[in-house]
Amino acid sequence: MLQVKSHWAQRLLKITVVATVYFFSARLGLLLQLGHTNASPVWPPSAIAFTALLIFGPELWPGILLGAFLANITVFSSNQVASIPVIMLTSAAISIGNTSEALIGYYLIKRFKSEQILGKSRDFAVFFTIVLIMCLSSSLIGTLMLSVNKIISWQDYKTVWFTWWTGDVSGIIILTPALLAWWKPKKRKWNTASIIQVILLFFALFVYLGAIFGEWLPLGFNRAKIFIIFFIITWCVFRMSQRQLSLVILLISIYSIYSTFLGKGPFIEASPNLSLISLQVFLCVISISMMFLSTTLNARKNSEEELKAVNALLEMKVAERTYTLELQKEKLEAANILLLQKTKALEDLNKESRSFAHVVSHDLREPIRSIVSYLQLLEERYKNKLDRDADLFIDFAVDGAKRMSVLIDDLLAYSRIEHNQSEFIHVDLNEIVAVVKSNLHTAISDNEARIVINHKLPTVLADYSQMVQLFQNLIDNAIKYRSDKQPEININVQKQGNISLISVADNGIGISKEYFDRIFVIFQRLHTRDQYDGTGIGLAICKKILEKHGGKIWVESVEGKGSTFYFTCN
Ligand code: ADP
Repeated sequence: MLQVKSHWAQRLLKITVVATVYFFSARLGLLLQLGHTNASPVWPPSAIAFTALLIFGPELWPGILLGAFLANITVFSSNQVASIPVIMLTSAAISIGNTSEALIGYYLIKRFKSEQILGKSRDFAVFFTIVLIMCLSSSLIGTLMLSVNKIISWQDYKTVWFTWWTGDVSGIIILTPALLAWWKPKKRKWNTASIIQVILLFFALFVYLGAIFGEWLPLGFNRAKIFIIFFIITWCVFRMSQRQLSLVILLISIYSIYSTFLGKGPFIEASPNLSLISLQVFLCVISISMMFLSTTLNARKNSEEELKAVNALLEMKVAERTYTLELQKEKLEAANILLLQKTKALEDLNKESRSFAHVVSHDLREPIRSIVSYLQLLEERYKNKLDRDADLFIDFAVDGAKRMSVLIDDLLAYSRIEHNQSEFIHVDLNEIVAVVKSNLHTAISDNEARIVINHKLPTVLADYSQMVQLFQNLIDNAIKYRSDKQPEININVQKQGNISLISVADNGIGISKEYFDRIFVIFQRLHTRDQYDGTGIGLAICKKILEKHGGKIWVESVEGKGSTFYFTCN
């Protein structure tokens, strides 16, 4: 609520300020009016009205209406040009014309998106064109009202209208850029050189204006000298900010209007009104061409600055990125070195443990064999000659020693795969299965197992005995881990490009999913020795054989329904 109130109060204040400034500048302009027409060739209020809308928005229009009405009514009344009602009606119509002029200008600027009047040369050109058009509204309405109410004769219509229009156009063209430039926040930084230059320029201007309008130098004058002003102002355009330039144009305007009003200078014509009109046209040309040039230069400077800023930003970003990349590279290199060191350490450890397993299993073999033989000898000679406990202990010792012997044999077989250097030859896997069948003849017939090769197996490049070992371990397991059903083992092959995917499927007890990986680890078993005999090394050997051959092995199984072992061969 408080905010709403303060918004309205602010608006009211602004409207009052606009009305006041408009009123006094109009009274100033009306000092130079043509007869008692209220039409003046010098009309700063049109610029005040238009600029106020451009800066603060169109809602300030009542300020223009009020200021214009009061200025017209007071001047008309003091000149007693007509009866009070006619004066009131005429003043009201003129103030409507003045307000509509500023509003039309404002909406056209918005419509053509040309708000950056001093920032873009295109916007400045649009601004100039709009000014020529918008000033038609006030001048046509005003002159019409004066004629209709017989304040002027229809004969004077053209002169009054042209005076009015020129006054409005030149007012806006000279004053609006200055007001806009001074409203914008200041950018320029001063240094001694620029201060001296600006002082020199103002001095040159002062001398020139004095020479042309003040007649205080014994130069005499002719019209050609007027054009020297272009040198000075062009110098200003290149060396001064837009604020200073607009100030220069304003000073020239005030000085020359005042001089011409006093009847001095090169623009003196048949009547003071004509003199002022011709001066205003000249001032308009100067203002338009110089502000246009300055806007163009400014726009170029701005885009150069923007480009520099973008460039600097880009360079900063590239530097930042490079730094981050270098940091990442360093980190990566350090990680790489660490990884290489760890891999090397792991390889060394692996090698060491493999050769350790090999040496240990190889060297333990003989002593274990002799322990087994001597224990068996002890059993043969002293069975039933010692007490019952001694017989039992000897039994346990023989059994343990035999088991140890098997374990060591298995471990040696496992480490041999690693150390085996024999070359790969073409091996027909159908033949391998036939050999395995004959090796496992007893187990097969005891269990009435059926082994079926569904597709003819391929011939692969491999180590012959390791292929026998691979198939034998898988088929042996398929029979060993049988269910109540008659064991049925299906061997299949699928070609996948150069690779053969071979599967050995059984209808045995199956394996729970959580053990799919564990069963391939050395000495890992899912059952006790009482349930199933074994050492837990068979599948680890299969995995090692396939790794040596560049293949893989894995299992898929459903508990109670059977397992399928898959492996790949080249
Ligand atoms: P072992 O048979 O000597 O115990 P393996 O390494 O050959 O050792 O097998 C590891 C474990 O995998 C076995 O103890 C068994 O539990 C399981 N297993 C292997 N093959 C099969 C199969 N065909 N069906 C069910 N379980 C199996």
